Amino acid sequence: MVQTETDILIIGGGIAGCIAAISLVDTHTVTLIDKLEHPKERIGESLAPATQRILRELHLVDDLQSHQESLYIQNLGMQSYWGSDQVHIVDHLRNPDGLSKSLDRKAFEEFLRESAVSRGVHCIWHTKLHHSRFEANQWLVTTKSVDQQEQCIKAKFVIDATGRQSHFARSQGIKRLSIDKLIACWVTLPNTEENKMSTITATEHGWWYTAVVPQNKRVIAFQTDSDLVDKSTFKDLNSFLKLAKDTTQISAILDKNKAAIKFHGTVAANSTRLEQVVGQQWAALGDAAISFDPLSSQGMFHAMASAMQLKNLLIDSAIIHRHTNQKEAVFQKRYTLQIHAIWDQYLHHKNIFYKAETRWKESPFWKRRHLN
Ligand SMILES: Cc1cc2nc3c(=O)[nH]c(=O)nc-3n(C[C@H](O)[C@H](O)[C@H](O)COP(=O)(O)OP(=O)(O)OC[C@H]3O[C@@H](n4cnc5c(N)ncnc54)[C@H](O)[C@@H]3O)c2cc1C
Repeated sequence: MVQTETDILIIGGGIAGCIAAISLVDTHTVTLIDKLEHPKERIGESLAPATQRILRELHLVDDLQSHQESLYIQNLGMQSYWGSDQVHIVDHLRNPDGLSKSLDRKAFEEFLRESAVSRGVHCIWHTKLHHSRFEANQWLVTTKSVDQQEQCIKAKFVIDATGRQSHFARSQGIKRLSIDKLIACWVTLPNTEENKMSTITATEHGWWYTAVVPQNKRVIAFQTDSDLVDKSTFKDLNSFLKLAKDTTQISAILDKNKAAIKFHGTVAANSTRLEQVVGQQWAALGDAAISFDPLSSQGMFHAMASAMQLKNLLIDSAIIHRHTNQKEAVFQKRYTLQIHAIWDQYLHHKNIFYKAETRWKESPFWKRRHLN
């Protein structure tokens, strides 16, 4: 079996994992693994303006701008039909961090992976977490590649950046709590509209979202609760088109391009969190720690910001190079408090936003969101 030693092993090379790796590689040896050989096409394209500060701190902005055409387009803002039929526009024209970006999500993740490789992170793709145990003050993690090759990685610290699955934390027996059952069903199609602002539209059974991304493509998604739809509803495009009849804005766009619609199916979009986000020489990051409702458009910002916070805590506490149990206890307490504060703030804003829509008082989707 191949053996590797590293200060930090990061499991999951999505946005959280890559940003953590890039931010830590100047001060530690870092190994980053991901089960996928390449990032996959996925929903989640709106990059909040505040992420610009993190990208600048990591000296990624110039590279990002030089790839602008393929990686992102500038997004003027968001129009919403929420709480009434009147359109409400929120733009970023006066935001000191600039406009938000609509990403080609797959290309952006590939860009972050390439940046990690070029900064000296030891990256192993197409390899997933298989088994782990803590022994003599370090983690012994066995990974398995797609062709079943096993590798043993000895690490002083493990970061779980595996997204909502939180594979590492769950393998330690830690439970994940869900506070709702939100799912998103999504399609892509060529954009034929002049207006390229993102749009959200509330309807009786959930809400719709659409955004234009690079290569003049458009993403459209419907969010509802998994227990409010028949299991078969989201299996094919026809049911999706039928649901879209509830909204004139979205159905008009879909109707013009029916033949070119690519149906992607359903993904989990609920608000969830780990019961414990940090433990003996490990921490969970990004969606692995807490995952947000897409209404917030904050998932990628949180993935990046929590990676930077974790980096600062690891460096300040020196628990990797000069570990003591006392430092470890302080580190765990501080990280837990930080993540809990983000979660509480997030729930507060989520409640305010959902409560602002009061048109369908009898609809189960809205009723349950007005309870707390
Ligand atoms: C419908 C929807 C719309 C969204 N829209 C937006 C949006 O507009 N803006 C926004 O900011 N956020 C959005 N989000 C949220 C955003 O996509 C996530 O917050 C973000 O992807 C979190 O990044 P991450 O790196 O923590 O996790 P992930 O992106 O899930 O990355 C996890 C990585 O770990 C790898 N992995 C998993 N298991 C293993 C294993 N066992 N071994 C090795 N590797 C493993 C995976 O392959 C993946 O690369 C949306 C989410 C949804 C569901």
